[in-house]
Amino acid sequence: MSTIRVRFAPSPTGCFHIGNARTALFNWLYARHTGGRFVLRIEDTDSERNTREALQLLLRGMRWLGLDWDEGPEVGGPCGPYYQSQRSDIYEDYLERLRTAGRAYEKDGAIYFRISGEPQENPDLVRGPVFRTEERDFVIFRSNGTPVYHFVVVVDDIEMGITHVIRGEDHLSNTSKHLELFKALGAELPQFAHIPLILKMDGPGKMSKRDEGALLEDYERRHFIAAAVRNYLCLLGWSPKDDREVLPIEEIIELFDFSGINRDNARFDERKLAFINSAYQRSLPVRTFAELACPLLQAAGLVGPTVDRAYVRDVLGLCQEKVRSLEGLAEYARYFFTDDYPVLEKARGRIFRKGDPVSRIRELLSAFKRVEPFSAEKLECIVQDRARAGDCYTGDYIHPLRFAVSGTNAGPGIYAMLHVLGRDRTTSRMERFVSAYESGKRGITKSGLESEIYGE
Ligand code: GLU
Repeated sequence: MSTIRVRFAPSPTGCFHIGNARTALFNWLYARHTGGRFVLRIEDTDSERNTREALQLLLRGMRWLGLDWDEGPEVGGPCGPYYQSQRSDIYEDYLERLRTAGRAYEKDGAIYFRISGEPQENPDLVRGPVFRTEERDFVIFRSNGTPVYHFVVVVDDIEMGITHVIRGEDHLSNTSKHLELFKALGAELPQFAHIPLILKMDGPGKMSKRDEGALLEDYERRHFIAAAVRNYLCLLGWSPKDDREVLPIEEIIELFDFSGINRDNARFDERKLAFINSAYQRSLPVRTFAELACPLLQAAGLVGPTVDRAYVRDVLGLCQEKVRSLEGLAEYARYFFTDDYPVLEKARGRIFRKGDPVSRIRELLSAFKRVEPFSAEKLECIVQDRARAGDCYTGDYIHPLRFAVSGTNAGPGIYAMLHVLGRDRTTSRMERFVSAYESGKRGITKSGLESEIYGE
């Protein structure tokens, strides 16, 4: 069997919609699955709608997703062979062939293709056989002399030896026009595979570029893990035929075939994407996670040039497991780097509902000052001993403790976290807590209290 050749043929207008990214991905997967070639072809014949920025977004998005192409334009370099805007001679040649065969004629300044009017069968690899009959001749060159999509797409698919046309279902109804043209040009027919639409998160209707999550570039901006987004896009219309959602790309390549592509529309699911993203994030080597995370901490002003690298690494080691997305990391990890962190009202309410958190912290404080070494194990022993002696739960100590050192009620495991924070930060925050809340100060209004303790 001859080599499989597929193409991604985007028009560089506007943003890089995830539906287009998914089309690129499915072509790439099929090429890699079959050992074929993946061609990138920029469909830029409509000069009024194309922009350089759109092209840059496209190429950047392709690279971000790791969709390397085997033939096509290069970023920055001289324009490659696969910009349609540079192929007008070829389109003129093909037009000449149609004219000679009596299949093209001029009317009102435009050039029309003369259809055969015969029913066109597309044995679609996803949809199954689809029949459609063209009823009217259609324009292939506009009156301003530029060729129309239907014509150039067919010419280039012939010229580039494309064997499989994998594209969005919105093109299904164009296929009869394309089949007419392939036949009129005496070319071998490619096989078509029209992949399902992506519906918006809720409600009917296709996901439009205005819908939340529709633009690929937003994911890079929001610090998603590229491999996770790619994994998620694979599941928009394809499935490994079991319930798995997190799959290494090598395995997807191995499994990817038309039989795994659904006919039903796919629905965009932000929660599933977030779930997959956090699974990828957790499985990154700590080093890689730190490389991604450090610039975010810097941007938030939490770490500066004189940063203690070992400390940052320890903090990130704790956060990697816990934080759902890199986007929320700086907020999540703030209290590790500054004493000026926000206080969660609901966490404060909860600890004062029961017992006397101030004396609990005071009890721990003297032990925490003395204990050697200041290790997670030792700290845990102290808390357990106190709880046993006072006949109460370890939680009665842990919750006030967490609030005293971080202002919140959730976070990494408390003992590991205290160990990372270190004795000085831990005990000075505990002292601050005690002096802010000891008897007599409890009556201070909420906002007055906050400004008093945390200098807001
Ligand atoms: N430029 C077209 C698009 O972006 C290509 C469609 C096709 O693959 O034939 O939708």
